[in-house]
Amino acid sequence: MLTDWGSATDRGAVREANEDALLAYPPVFLVADGMGGHDAGDVASRIAVEEFADLAGEDGATPEDVHGCFLRAAHRIGSEFSTSRQGGTTVAGIALTRPDGVPSWLVFTVGDSRVYRRTPGGVVQVSVDHSVTAELVARGELDPADVPTHPSRHVLTRVLGTAEPADPDYWLLPAQVGDRFLLCTDGLTRELADAEIASVLAAATDPRAAAAELVARAVARGARDNVTVVVVDGGARTGLRLPRAGADARDRAWHDEREGTTLPRPRTARDAVVA
Ligand code: MG
Repeated sequence: MLTDWGSATDRGAVREANEDALLAYPPVFLVADGMGGHDAGDVASRIAVEEFADLAGEDGATPEDVHGCFLRAAHRIGSEFSTSRQGGTTVAGIALTRPDGVPSWLVFTVGDSRVYRRTPGGVVQVSVDHSVTAELVARGELDPADVPTHPSRHVLTRVLGTAEPADPDYWLLPAQVGDRFLLCTDGLTRELADAEIASVLAAATDPRAAAAELVARAVARGARDNVTVVVVDGGARTGLRLPRAGADARDRAWHDEREGTTLPRPRTARDAVVA
């Protein structure tokens, strides 16, 4: 099965730093939205990317592999921070896995970063937001239209951080030709409605163009938060060969530590295929 992808990130127009991070290297793709402010959120999101980068370059990942990354990331975040210096991160991603030999995507999330999937019936949100407002909506106690102005709209109920053990959600989806996934931090969904996201995913054939367009639109709307997206086309009919990443995969895990942001990750790591 061939895989192609594109990614983009931007600090946005308001935040002083980009605390988001991303990893896009088969068989694992993810975004992470760090929290805690300067010298905390960026550290937490980078820790998550570094731990998942251990899977990069493998032919596939098992659910146990993925959960191990969560546990190691949580342990490192717990060691890094204290009650006086708190930090945490969301994680939303997909990993290629082969239960019983069937190529499948393992979707994993903690926090309010999201995983969307394009289906024949349209683009659907696979993940469930771990937020106060999402729980209120699910219980019928809050109208979805009122979420953007709710005072607790930014309060998360689950995060990869110091206060709780790692508790990600998982979904297992059989891979299909024509699959397209979007992984994004809330900086995107804060600016773009689902219908607009779906239209961009439908219109842009190239996943790189789709990722760039989504972030550009969020920036055009004012980008009140860091914006990060990864678009993954699974089961593409054309593609390249799986690079033998091995030991240097961790170096290719991308996190922008410079001021400014908007830097695409190195092109060298992105041409790949999963057999
Ligand atoms: Mg955010």
